[in-house]
Order: sequence, then C-alpha cells, then structure tokens
Amino acid sequence: MNYKNIPLKKYNTFGLDYIAEYMIRVKTEKEAIALFKGSAAWKKPHLILGSGSNILFTSDFKGTILYPEIKGIKIEEQEPDNRNVIVSAGAGVNWDDFVAWSVNKGFGGIENLSLIPGKVGATPVQNIGAYGVEVKDRIVKVKTININDGSRRVFNNHECEFSYRNSIFKNREKGKYLVTRVYYRLAINPLLNLSYESLKEEVNKLGAETLINVRQGVINLRQNKLPDPEIIGNAGSFFKNPVVESCVALNLINEFPDIPVYKDREGYMKLASGWLIERCGWKGERRGDAGVHNKQALVLINYGNATGKEIYNLSEEIRKSVHGKFGIDLEREVEIVGVI
Ligand SMILES: Cc1cc2nc3c(=O)[nH]c(=O)nc-3n(C[C@H](O)[C@H](O)[C@H](O)COP(=O)(O)OP(=O)(O)OC[C@H]3O[C@@H](n4cnc5c(N)ncnc54)[C@H](O)[C@@H]3O)c2cc1C
Repeated sequence: MNYKNIPLKKYNTFGLDYIAEYMIRVKTEKEAIALFKGSAAWKKPHLILGSGSNILFTSDFKGTILYPEIKGIKIEEQEPDNRNVIVSAGAGVNWDDFVAWSVNKGFGGIENLSLIPGKVGATPVQNIGAYGVEVKDRIVKVKTININDGSRRVFNNHECEFSYRNSIFKNREKGKYLVTRVYYRLAINPLLNLSYESLKEEVNKLGAETLINVRQGVINLRQNKLPDPEIIGNAGSFFKNPVVESCVALNLINEFPDIPVYKDREGYMKLASGWLIERCGWKGERRGDAGVHNKQALVLINYGNATGKEIYNLSEEIRKSVHGKFGIDLEREVEIVGVI
C-alpha cells in the first residue's frame, strides 16, 4: 500500500514531527519482490524504517519510506543434539514481543536483550546488545531481498560482518537489502548470562536465577534507568562507547584516575561515553526542548517541541566539549536522516 505526505511523529521514538513524501508498507516477501522488480522511480532516495528508535530525522524526508510489516514467529527446527532450536521471525515483529515469546517457551539466549525498542528486521542491522549479550551470537542467517532488482539473498552469520552496533547492512551495503526474516539459534536448556553485577543483584532480589527472572530483572533495570519513549522522546544511547588504543586509555587513567575503562580486543580498551559526557557537566542540561537525560548522560531527549536540528546541534556541542576535555571523538550511534 502506497501513502503520500505521511506525518512521521509516531514513526520515530524522538517524536519528531516531520513529513515523509511517500511511504510503502510491505506486508509479505512476495509483495516486496514484486515492488523491487518493478519501476525504479520511487527508489531514490529511500529509507527502510523499523520503529525509528535509532534514527534522528532533521528535516522532512523527500523520498520513499519502506515500512516492512512482515509478521510471524516460527520454530524452524530442533538441532540434532537437542540443545538448540532455530526460530525465525518476520522483520515487522516487535523485538520485545519476540523476546517475551521465546522466554515463555523456555528458550534462552536473548533474554538479556529484553525491552530494547524496535523491530526484528533492525536487529541484524544494528547488532543490538545489552547486559553482556549481542544478538550476533544468536543470529544464524538473515533473509533479504535486494531492493535494486528484487532478487533474494540469504546472509549467513559470517557474511553479516557483525561488529559493535554494526553490520554489513549498516555499512558496505547500506540501504541495498530489505531484511525480511531473521533466524536465531536459541538454547533449550539455557545458560544464563549474569556477568553484569547489577543484573545479578536484580535477579537475586526477584528470587531464583531463572529465564523469566532474568527478563524481569532486565526490564526493571531498564525502566529505572532509561526514559520511556512513549512519555519522553529519545533514541536510547546517542553515542557509541569509544574504543581506543590501550596507551590512550592509560594516559587518560593517569589524568583522570576514576575513569571507567573496559577490556576490548587485544591492544584496545573501551571507554564509557556516558561518563565522559557527565564529566563535561552535561547531565540534565537543556537547550530549549532538546536536553540530556538527568539519570543517564548518554541519552538525549526531546522535552516536547525540539526539532531534529536542535537535538543534532546539542549532540555537536557535546562532541566538541568531550573532545576538548579528553581528546576523544564520540561517534554517534543514532543515524541522522535529513538535511543538517
Ligand atoms: C529507550 C531506548 C533504549 C535503547 N536501548 C538499546 C540497547 O540497549 N541496545 C541497543 O543495541 N540498542 C538500543 N536502542 C536503539 C534501538 O532500539 C535499536 O537500534 C533497534 O534495533 C532499532 O530498531 P528499529 O526497528 O527502531 O530500527 P530503525 O531505527 O527504524 O532503523 C535502524 C536502522 O536499521 C535499518 N532497518 C530497519 N529495519 C530494516 C529492515 N527490515 N531491513 C533493512 N534495514 C532495516 C534502518 O534503515 C536504519 O538504518 C534503544 C533505543 C531506545 C529508544
């Protein structure tokens, strides 16, 4: 179905009130193939949109938004060793509904990713992660359709080129493939990941270390810490945590002994953007209706009537001040769409 001049307010979690020139809702793979094999007129420019929970619109969108609504969760097979099942979900399935479904079935592996906003289709694009788990460790394959010619392509895990909040779909092949279905390997007798001390404590408050309590523990922590986009516009962490060479981290530790640093790959350390931003005095700061959350400095918020540009400008001010104080360049996790 084709729509014209669509208000985007309910299609992005910042609640920004821009207009998209066209929107095409795609309900099945067949529909997508027919569309992509047809006229190319609508394709330039285009944007594939899930729940818009990692996007900052900065102007009206002059082009076509593709909105996948492919549904359905299916147990595809039980692996021969009886340890795992392969489950697939359509790109348009709400991610947290899928997590709830798998926890209710007793399947483990994605419970630490509870309550992350967005759709299944974006999970391999973003390689979503939380509480010591990344979705790349559960994705078996990703079914896609090439937007240029309507051909099908299945990417196995390796071909997705996953890295921290990144994949081939966000990078080298950005905008070229519509993800239609994602296949996950889930454990029948799950080993719980309670490597995050705060999660372990929360689960222990709830009682036994069970799958259901891990999900509930994650939900409790997230609801305490992060603003609900239904109430206050935001896109979660606005910046990635910077990964720096170990020598850079050591220099920072000398100058700022309480700076949190975490191990990364050999020779590299990860810093906490939220801490760097907070140390620059940004927590709770506001520029009109664009602001920095007062509980988590990594989250930028729309108090109601901010424009995308105002939020973008605030993020630039933050980047400059973090660079000035620590010599670190923050990279945005949120994708900017529109004119700046
Ligand atoms: C309160 C809050 C908390 C958050 N916490 C976390 C967190 O803990 N961890 C984390 O990793 N993220 C987190 N996020 C970010 C966000 O939820 C994820 O990035 C999520 O995967 C985005 O899903 P979406 O459907 O909204 O995608 P969108 O924001 O709509 O799109 C994201 C990207 O994926 C592409 N895309 C979407 N669907 C498809 C498809 N079917 N085929 C091809 N490309 C597609 C888009 O073009 C875009 O490039 C949080 C966001 C919020 C608002």
